[in-house]
Amino acid sequence: MTLPTTHVSFPAGAVTGESTVLAVHPLDGGRYAVVTGATPFHPLDHTWPDQPADLGTLTVDGVELAVVDCLTGAVGPDGGSDGGPVLVGADIPVRRGDEEWSWLVLHVLAADPGDIVGRTAALAVDAGRRGALSASHSGCHLLALALNEALAPRWRKDPGRTDAFGHPDFDSLAMASSVMDTEASTDTYRLGKSLRKKGFTAEATEEFPALADALPELTEAVNRRLAGWVAADAAVRIDVPGPELTARREWNCELPEGAARIFCGGTHLHHLGELAELRTELRLSEDGSELVAVTRPKRA
Ligand SMILES: [Zn+2]
Repeated sequence: MTLPTTHVSFPAGAVTGESTVLAVHPLDGGRYAVVTGATPFHPLDHTWPDQPADLGTLTVDGVELAVVDCLTGAVGPDGGSDGGPVLVGADIPVRRGDEEWSWLVLHVLAADPGDIVGRTAALAVDAGRRGALSASHSGCHLLALALNEALAPRWRKDPGRTDAFGHPDFDSLAMASSVMDTEASTDTYRLGKSLRKKGFTAEATEEFPALADALPELTEAVNRRLAGWVAADAAVRIDVPGPELTARREWNCELPEGAARIFCGGTHLHHLGELAELRTELRLSEDGSELVAVTRPKRA
């Protein structure tokens, strides 16, 4: 019997839940992965590892076990609870959501929990850490929209991809990596040849200065936009087509300019008034090839 894809409640913001333990798998380094039918835990995604794992506890028969990491596991068509290995993270050879595979939230324990298969586990996520990661993740998406808007005049031609507000989608076209932690979201953009070919201009023209010289002004424009969105206390929700870990979820934010939508597997605030402030800092590498945005939410 193959394990079923885990059902997840984190998209709605859940931090607690109860579910049956379906399997316990040994991992490298003497650690163990507990698989449950459903969970509020957000695991690190193996395809796009932007939001770090939830931490917390599993309680079985009154015994509290610390969840020291949370990973994405996958079982191939021939695998199963006993019929094959659970592959973890980078060892998974297919992309997230491959329908032939089962996709599992792995609650990682530092030691063998014993025979707990079939028991009910009470799952509890560290809510403070989750809240901080959600704030950083919401900040990351808002930065994307504000940065796209601020850089829109620098496109000589339509790059063929626009964001929810119709601006050229610099964020997704130039994105090299996006990493959140409990303090900030750090987004790194590559300003290479391929971006230039798509029409982006970093050099000075008659209309605007070189990107390096424009940074203070750009930063101010982005931060003004972010401050306006926080002040508007815009509502945020995740649209969920199904309960499975692999469902294609979408972040929605009712901004004053209209509804913004971005595909997203992470967790988020419920409304932007949960923040007191959201500010970004833009840095350009010395050779001009990389733009880094560090966006810090301050929670209300
Ligand atoms: Zn996201």
